[in-house]
Amino acid sequence: MMNKPPLLVSACLLGQPVRYDGHGKAMPSPLLFELARRYQLLSICPECQGGLPTPRPAAEISGGDGGDVLDGRARVITQTGQDVSRAFIDGARQALDSAIRHGCRQALLKANSPSCGNRQIHSGRFDQQLQPGSGVTAALLQGHGISVFNENEMDRLLLTKPQP
Ligand code: SF4
Repeated sequence: MMNKPPLLVSACLLGQPVRYDGHGKAMPSPLLFELARRYQLLSICPECQGGLPTPRPAAEISGGDGGDVLDGRARVITQTGQDVSRAFIDGARQALDSAIRHGCRQALLKANSPSCGNRQIHSGRFDQQLQPGSGVTAALLQGHGISVFNENEMDRLLLTKPQP
């Protein structure tokens, strides 16, 4: 049987209780089953891998998006005002290392997260508003040619042929 292509997946989408609030956000079982049938799933949680505890204070990107954080032009700040940019960047680098090590060209990451969001992130004002932009890990992966999908884009992911 052919080897299944690797796919980085946000651990919370697999049901692991790693979110800031101590919970997971598992996708419906049939979708998880289909993913596991097609891919070798590589679970990541950049915020945990960057050294942050669970549960942890909610954090948002202030002054830009994930790419700006990587370039030092914006920061990730918790609701209590702590700068956690370093941990977010460390976690993103570990996710990229894992992708490179496994030859992974695609990722399925949690929408709207300051780490994992691939299209939108919160405003940085903790006002529930979203704005265009990627989280820190999504931006780093995208910058290295890895296609990042979110859990609402499963159809697109499953239609996309894994790149060699
Ligand atoms: S960093 Fe990513 S994987 Fe970890 S809890 Fe947040 S969205 Fe889920």
